Amino acid sequence: MSEPKLVYSSKINKIRTFALSLVFIGILIMYVGILAKKIPWLMFTFFIIGVISVLMSTVVYLWIGLLSTRAIHIICPNCEKPTKMLGRVDACMNCKQPLTMDKDLEGKEFDEKYNSAKYRKELKKDQEQNEQ
Ligand SMILES: [Zn+2]
Repeated sequence: MSEPKLVYSSKINKIRTFALSLVFIGILIMYVGILAKKIPWLMFTFFIIGVISVLMSTVVYLWIGLLSTRAIHIICPNCEKPTKMLGRVDACMNCKQPLTMDKDLEGKEFDEKYNSAKYRKELKKDQEQNEQ
């Protein structure tokens, strides 16, 4: 049995892909609405969902803009291109090299759980227990 090889993509790229797919889903839903034009209420419902989906993507795009201003600009040690980092661990936007801001996590298997508050809490608890 081989372990599944996970490819991590940069968070900003991930959110961007999500926003883009929302636009396409919205257009697709509206297209289904056109197909259902014989049933006005159904067409109307599809259109509303489609418009909401497109609007959502706009919101997500704005959110990326906000996140980007908070992201840390670094030069990737692997490909030597500038990239942006969000959170404690992230992947390079160009070469998908896992990156970390935390010295404790250096050399460790890349895992998105390092970003979650729950994991950090557990880690702190573990450390406190070790000290006792
Ligand atoms: Zn890189």
